[in-house]
Amino acid sequence: MPEKLSTNIKYLKGVGPARAAYLAKLNIFSIEDLLTHYPRRYEDRSYFKPIKLLEDNEVQTFRATVVAVEERKPRRGLTLTKVTVRDDSAVAQLVWFNQSYRKTRYRPGMELIVYGKAERRFNTIQLVNPEVEIVDEVEELLNVGRIVPVYPATENINQRVLRQLVRQALTDCHPIPEILPGNIICRYNLIGRDQALESIHFPPDKDALTQARRRLVFEELFFLQYGLLYLKNRNKHEFQGIKHAQDGKLSKEVLARLPFTLTTDQQVALQEIKADMEDTRPMQRLLQGDVGSGKTVIAALALVKTVENGYQGAMMAPTEILAEQHFHTLSRLLANLGIRLALLTGRLTKRERDQVLANLRNGLVDIVIGTHALLQDDVHFKHLGLVVTDEQHRFGVRQRALLQAKGKMPDVLVMTATPIPRTMALTVYGDLDVSVIRTLPPGRKPIKTYSVTGEMRGRVYNFVAREVAAGRQAYVVCPLVEESDKLEARAAVQMYEQLARTYFKGLTCGLVHGKMKSQEKDAVMNAFYSGKIQVLIATTVIEVGVNVPNATVMVIEGADRFGLAQLHQLRGRIGRGEHQSFCILISDSKSEESKERLAIMTTTQDGFVLAEKDLLLRGPGQFFGTRQHGMPDLKIADIVRDLDILLEARQAAQQAVTRPEIFNELQSVLKLRFGEAFNMIFYN
Ligand code: ADP
Ligand code: MG
Repeated sequence: MPEKLSTNIKYLKGVGPARAAYLAKLNIFSIEDLLTHYPRRYEDRSYFKPIKLLEDNEVQTFRATVVAVEERKPRRGLTLTKVTVRDDSAVAQLVWFNQSYRKTRYRPGMELIVYGKAERRFNTIQLVNPEVEIVDEVEELLNVGRIVPVYPATENINQRVLRQLVRQALTDCHPIPEILPGNIICRYNLIGRDQALESIHFPPDKDALTQARRRLVFEELFFLQYGLLYLKNRNKHEFQGIKHAQDGKLSKEVLARLPFTLTTDQQVALQEIKADMEDTRPMQRLLQGDVGSGKTVIAALALVKTVENGYQGAMMAPTEILAEQHFHTLSRLLANLGIRLALLTGRLTKRERDQVLANLRNGLVDIVIGTHALLQDDVHFKHLGLVVTDEQHRFGVRQRALLQAKGKMPDVLVMTATPIPRTMALTVYGDLDVSVIRTLPPGRKPIKTYSVTGEMRGRVYNFVAREVAAGRQAYVVCPLVEESDKLEARAAVQMYEQLARTYFKGLTCGLVHGKMKSQEKDAVMNAFYSGKIQVLIATTVIEVGVNVPNATVMVIEGADRFGLAQLHQLRGRIGRGEHQSFCILISDSKSEESKERLAIMTTTQDGFVLAEKDLLLRGPGQFFGTRQHGMPDLKIADIVRDLDILLEARQAAQQAVTRPEIFNELQSVLKLRFGEAFNMIFYN
């Protein structure tokens, strides 16, 4: 990395330790961090209007001369500074409240550039709290009279400060060295890095801004794709994995014993998985399929295949409840076949755990199902052949790699119930091959979904009580409180107490929330599972996994606070049995976006459709961050909007990974971009 860019931000002129501390809140630690602190948006302040033509209630820019400055104190604690300005066309008044330093700042005769919202009052044109720059003072206009960047800012670091600092950094570092290979710059018609960084902050015009953005988005996606494809390629070419044999007796028997026939999508996915396993290169496959689409059985068949070949299989789930559920499912599916299963969660006693660990080490366990507990250092396998991780979005690339590292190049199958739109899959799972189960097993009744306001609450809960009285079970999901588990838990307790006293009087209610100990939680979940609890009041802890076919009603309070993908996951808890299921979304939100989101829920149950919509409505950040996947954050690329650039960047990266000399050229940048994931990806 060029030295200047990596310099600590506190050495930039105008920064110092105090400002450095505030900049740290914006994740700005080096000059490069500052230069890649991209504007959130821009304001076009480049066109000067004559004062006379200023329009009411619109934000506009004009240039004028100061005529008079006065200060008034209409009442205690209120200071009004009024500056009268004029141009050839008319007079305007600039007004500020409690900013008396302005009184001495402006003097008659000064030239100003003013940016703000104009209002016509009686016969005067007035601007309250406008932004102003004195023309003689600035060599280059940063804040007005141009297309102006607007940054994510923070306490004590306002827009003007950021603009000033960025200007300083750009000047100090000029010319900023290129980091993309020359042939890629040429081939994809990109502008240079120096010019791009200059124009992304201070675009001379819109066209320059478009060019700059395209170049920087390309750069960001190129490095990300390079990392992902490097990983994928290395797995394909460099490593000798396990070559499983074609299906033998055991695999065939398990398949024959299934109480149903696989759907076409399941069959295709299974074929793809088996082909990978029978190949020498290690499998790196993502199995996508909606909740209830039948992924578990596919995982089970893959695990059986590895066992049949004399290897061990491991399956990792994100929660203890889910791990236990998988354990039971597999125990049933694989009963009486001589396959030895074990469960490894944080809940085992030390003695039980030691026993499982010994059995794994000695090859006395064939398939282990567990939680994060599987990743601990003292977990060793005799010969791990296949690693399955379920609900991948809860784990990161790092964790996947940790489990994989417990064997010698085992095959890896990643399962996710979060349908991932194509752009997202390329960005986040770019290193994996993908199989998709799109259709649900036959015979499922669609869930009837309604979106209602709080006024209907009474009717909704009476309906729930009637369904429960008829023998069904129900979930009530409490509003999401993203910032605080504690507040969320408290609200859940309140709702539980209130419902148990009123609508659900005489029914057995249970409560689960994130602040309960896992034993308490499990006790409640098990009681619900066995039917002892009729109504379960819960926070999103029930989102993943739980399978209670008799539960047919779900009420989601504060539904607007959830994303579509999350609502879809929640709703996936019902509609699993023979009875008609109902999902009722309660929301008092007035926002059009929320209303639209909830309306979509009532019209489709296709997770892929919902995921695409969610991505469009809420943007990728909300959908799920890349950071948790161990990948660099995207600072400028928007994977919905920038699909075209993504595809180009991926193509460029694809070509680059096949040329070892390029790696040396890119190494230092890759190290910086991938941070702690670097060694894992490039030198694992
Ligand atoms: P997922 O893990 O994708 O959420 P599961 O594997 O838990 O889904 O499957 C949901 C339910 O559907 C299970 O009860 C399973 O036995 C059943 N199932 C799976 N595949 C089929 C099929 N092809 N036909 C009928 N039922 C199936
Ligand atoms: Mg599942």
